[in-house]
Amino acid sequence: MKYRLLEQSSLRRLIFSFVLLSIIVSYAPQSAQASQLEASAALPLSQTNPQQTVFLPLVAQDSGTHSVDLIAAAQARGEISSETALLYQVFAVFGDDRLPAKYRGTSSGPSDVEVSQLVREQYHTLSAQAKATLEPFLMPPYHSGSWWDLQQQKQRRAVAPQAEQPSEWRCGGLGNVKDPLFNEWSYLDSANGEVRIWWQKRYPQDAAMAKLYLEKVDAIWLKLHMLMGRQPPSDEGSSKLCRGGNNRYDISLVDLGANGETWPYEYTAGGPTPSYILLRRGAAYGTLIHELMHAFQFAFARKGTWSEYTWWAEATATWAVQYVDPTLNHEHGYADGFLKRPDMALEEVLGGDSGVAATHHYGAYLFPWFIQTRIGEGWIRTSWERFATEPNSLKVVNELIPGGFKQQWPDFTLRMLNRPPMDDFTKADRMIVQSTLQGDEVVALNGARERAYELDGNVKHLASQAYRFTFNDLSARSVTFVNPLFEQEQLTAEIRALVKINGKWAEEDWTDAPWRSFCRDVKAERVEELMIVISNNEWQNRNHKLHFTKPPRLIATNVACRGWDFTVTAKMTESGDTFNSQEETVTTGRWLRDILDGDDGMGRPFEHYQAKDVKATWKHTGTEGGCSGSGSGSVTLPGADQTWLTIWTTGLDLTGRTYVPGRRVYNGFGTDVEVWGNVTVPYNCGDDSFPRSLVTLGHWFRTETVPTQSVSADGKEIKGTFVEIETDEGYNRTLTYTWTMTALPPE
Ligand SMILES: [Zn+2]
Repeated sequence: MKYRLLEQSSLRRLIFSFVLLSIIVSYAPQSAQASQLEASAALPLSQTNPQQTVFLPLVAQDSGTHSVDLIAAAQARGEISSETALLYQVFAVFGDDRLPAKYRGTSSGPSDVEVSQLVREQYHTLSAQAKATLEPFLMPPYHSGSWWDLQQQKQRRAVAPQAEQPSEWRCGGLGNVKDPLFNEWSYLDSANGEVRIWWQKRYPQDAAMAKLYLEKVDAIWLKLHMLMGRQPPSDEGSSKLCRGGNNRYDISLVDLGANGETWPYEYTAGGPTPSYILLRRGAAYGTLIHELMHAFQFAFARKGTWSEYTWWAEATATWAVQYVDPTLNHEHGYADGFLKRPDMALEEVLGGDSGVAATHHYGAYLFPWFIQTRIGEGWIRTSWERFATEPNSLKVVNELIPGGFKQQWPDFTLRMLNRPPMDDFTKADRMIVQSTLQGDEVVALNGARERAYELDGNVKHLASQAYRFTFNDLSARSVTFVNPLFEQEQLTAEIRALVKINGKWAEEDWTDAPWRSFCRDVKAERVEELMIVISNNEWQNRNHKLHFTKPPRLIATNVACRGWDFTVTAKMTESGDTFNSQEETVTTGRWLRDILDGDDGMGRPFEHYQAKDVKATWKHTGTEGGCSGSGSGSVTLPGADQTWLTIWTTGLDLTGRTYVPGRRVYNGFGTDVEVWGNVTVPYNCGDDSFPRSLVTLGHWFRTETVPTQSVSADGKEIKGTFVEIETDEGYNRTLTYTWTMTALPPE
């Protein structure tokens, strides 16, 4: 269900004309209400519920520290250059003993960082020396001169001195029996002729693992081929050195500090490149799918730098696991990295040393998956095709999704909640990770008059903030959300809400609503739970952040709102040179909450009431010249348009835009011209007589025009007085109104 505000313009106009009127007549300053300030509790969420900054991985491999994190931290401290950091990252992944001891982590589990992506990103910036150091790592392990070869030689030399291997053995081009390519590795070929899986003979048990991968690999290959419309370019290994010796796609099972790495053969800018995969021995089948998707991505040319597409490469490679095998759920382990950081931009990549956020770009798979559920998977291929001519990855994604980020981002950020009723990810795939809430509050007044919750709202581009409010305190009667977008328009901001009333959820769009108010005394509005998501669909300016001069605010007060039983006493004394009279009208009745047509609570900063069942009892006595009269009676008043009560139930000023803690003022008016004309007291003057009308029946209720009197501290009683004195030459009139109103109990 969606509420747009098209039909509401008339209601809005009405309310604003009321507000405007109030402003025009508000020459009297607002009462300071200082005493009420202490009674109200304004709680900025930033104080009561600080944003969580400690993030725990969902799937902890072990509690140790990863080398990749130690290296990233050292780089962040300026201890090592980015080039050195990259070399160290490579050393860490391959277990190379050139990694200084202080950067060696204690964790034995694999990291999620794919150093091959880092190398691809930075290769063109590296010094010749760094490129030379990296060279052994840029060829498959079963070739002479590879990192694996060097490690084996080192181990052999440690046992017995050995001569350096002759350089012509490099890459096994000579096919010498001493070459590790032929002696220390074995391989299995897949049935479709596309893939070769290599395993080390020193680990005989890996033969079984290789066979298991092999059974799956053709199906994965076929599905990714259909998806992407092309295959990874041939490595031409039958004719080019160091490429596995034949044209099949090579996957080798190795000891690796990461789960898997897909290495390109070519580091020239932009072009498609053949590649090969290193798979950690024992890596999950999901990792094989992920890395193979990288191999297919490498079949596409790109116009921008690789780093521009890194997030999309990881997001769609992780998405591919779900796509190829929806029951595997390997990708769920990455959802955490994304959903725990809704404050990060969609395409943001933090990498090592950023806790769970290090896998944010993997967890970003949720976005392509969400879009896939709406338009199918074809656009994934198109996105990679368009990168050939478009250097801006977000521009491509924006063009391919219906309505662009403008339409999809607010919808997606609601799904990120992954809580009922927006638990699509759980329903569709049993993915149970939920986004981190910026605030999660139980709205309870605990005897206070009111509580105000300030939402931060300063949301980055393609990020979001979610808040949950749970209500379990009936004394929180009047609730209003004040939307600052109404005053301070921000084109890329959206505010969506999920509202639970009487066990049923509804989705509402509050972006254009100045307010959303609920009277919890009424069953139909007794909100039980509220989730508010503020999102920013800006994608062009990556430095963009929403900024509110007044923050979004949710205010709950104990001011009753359903209706009021009232007794109003209006007294008049009137005197002059030739006349005087006394009059009293006591009126009883009920104020009932008046909902105007089209009012769904999205344009109302106050509650408005109409009088029902009004009974007036009057008495009058007086003299005028030689005449006199007296009388009393009872009459029923129909109530009329000019009869109303308005209560500012939720701490807002007359404009409804500014929060004034404790403000709960009201004003009203009671008149009935028709009855006033019909009921009279006869004044007798001997032979003659004339009818005298009743002032206090004509105006049976009055307050100040600009409200200053307040509802009681408990929100359930209204007591007040208004006196109007009129004096002129030879004329004095005092009108005194006093009233008591008692709130109707909750429905
Ligand atoms: Zn990857």
